[in-house]
Amino acid sequence: MQIQCSGKTKTGERCKAWAVAGSQFCISHDPAKVVELAEFRRQGGKGKSNKARARKALPGELMSMAEVQAHLGKALRGVLAGEIEPGVGTAVANIARAMRDVGAAAELEEQLLDMRRQIADLSERRPA
Ligand SMILES: [Zn+2]
Repeated sequence: MQIQCSGKTKTGERCKAWAVAGSQFCISHDPAKVVELAEFRRQGGKGKSNKARARKALPGELMSMAEVQAHLGKALRGVLAGEIEPGVGTAVANIARAMRDVGAAAELEEQLLDMRRQIADLSERRPA
């Protein structure tokens, strides 16, 4: 059953948005989410802030998929020419696969955060 949010709008009126399932509040007013959402809004105009933060947190540079592909090609040529141990080639391939998977997960996370930000903005714009 959907219930009305127990939060109050900036004008002091009761929020008219639906509460999130299992909560008394909508996504904008849930006390557990308020800090998180404030953080989302601060980051609003900064675009891919998560990626920027990830880059800052890492000592080295993040590798683009094109760079990974280039290293894979190099490893493949090395293995074929007998200059690189096949085991090293396998390790390179495994690491590249892991990087692709982590990259895809990070992209999904980014999209999810964007959607939550948009939902929060939309629910805030509901007429009070
Ligand atoms: Zn609300």
